[in-house]
Amino acid sequence: MQLTIASPVVRKHRYKVTRIVDATHDVRRVWMESVGRTAFNFEAGQFASVTFGTLPPRDYSMASRLDEPLLEFHIRHVGRDGASAYVARALKPGDDVEVEGPFGDAWLRRDHKGPMIAIAGGSGLAPIKSIVETALALGMGQEVRLYFGVRDEPDLYLEDHFAALSERHANFRFVPVLSHAKGRTRRCTGLVGEVVAGDLGDVRGHKAYLAGPPPMVEAATAMLKAKGLRDEDLHADPFYTEAEMVARGRAPRS
Ligand SMILES: Cc1cc2nc3c(=O)[nH]c(=O)nc-3n(C[C@H](O)[C@H](O)[C@H](O)COP(=O)(O)OP(=O)(O)OC[C@H]3O[C@@H](n4cnc5c(N)ncnc54)[C@H](O)[C@@H]3O)c2cc1C
Repeated sequence: MQLTIASPVVRKHRYKVTRIVDATHDVRRVWMESVGRTAFNFEAGQFASVTFGTLPPRDYSMASRLDEPLLEFHIRHVGRDGASAYVARALKPGDDVEVEGPFGDAWLRRDHKGPMIAIAGGSGLAPIKSIVETALALGMGQEVRLYFGVRDEPDLYLEDHFAALSERHANFRFVPVLSHAKGRTRRCTGLVGEVVAGDLGDVRGHKAYLAGPPPMVEAATAMLKAKGLRDEDLHADPFYTEAEMVARGRAPRS
């Protein structure tokens, strides 16, 4: 499959919501079609600044591949009155959305030949889905492992989708991990980073892609570095809140 190399040019694009599906009790998958005149080029793993209604923009990672006709986002409902609450309660098909991007450095390195480790926490699955599916669609033949960490069974989604993908691609392995399993389970349990650590030895020469809650990304980063991963092979997007981004030095968005 031929996928165009993304242009790094940041632009504002007009989209219209076409479909919304509840993936879990608090994560919605949202698909949009372009209604503007400019093509939105991005690399798998990047994110956009998305404006819903009159709310201030928030960062959301593209879950779709560049060659797919619709843009897909996974949006987890947190807080009471922000963008994610709006998506959970009010967004509907037909609504206009402004998408500005692409942003971010944690994109798929296509020329890497060594093994790939992808670790997602919660809605961090969005950019990781785009990365893994793009790598497989491009025919990248190295080992690709996807670890998906959530709290418990109700937080898992797209499990059948990734299981089917691993049937089609012998080099792809999908491992869901539950950190707070209440009952007995046949799945891996514990912190996702600890499960990855138990599976892998020295990871020098691997590339790692991480996305999701900052504590998960930070713990997994420390673990991978302790196992020999070089800084240049680590590509991470911690999902900081807007308040955390401002505290880290970014100007507030309004
Ligand atoms: C690079 C990047 C990519 C991102 N990609 C995604 C993505 O693909 N999908 C996704 O769902 N999110 C993603 N996020 C997070 C997203 O940008 C917003 O921060 C999130 O949706 C909350 O925005 P909000 O407007 O709903 O809440 P805000 O208006 O920012 O906050 C409203 C209230 O909710 C609380 N709150 C905010 N976040 C959390 C939280 N995680 N847990 C508990 N309380 C919280 C705040 O403290 C506040 O009280 C990403 C963030 C970054 C930096």
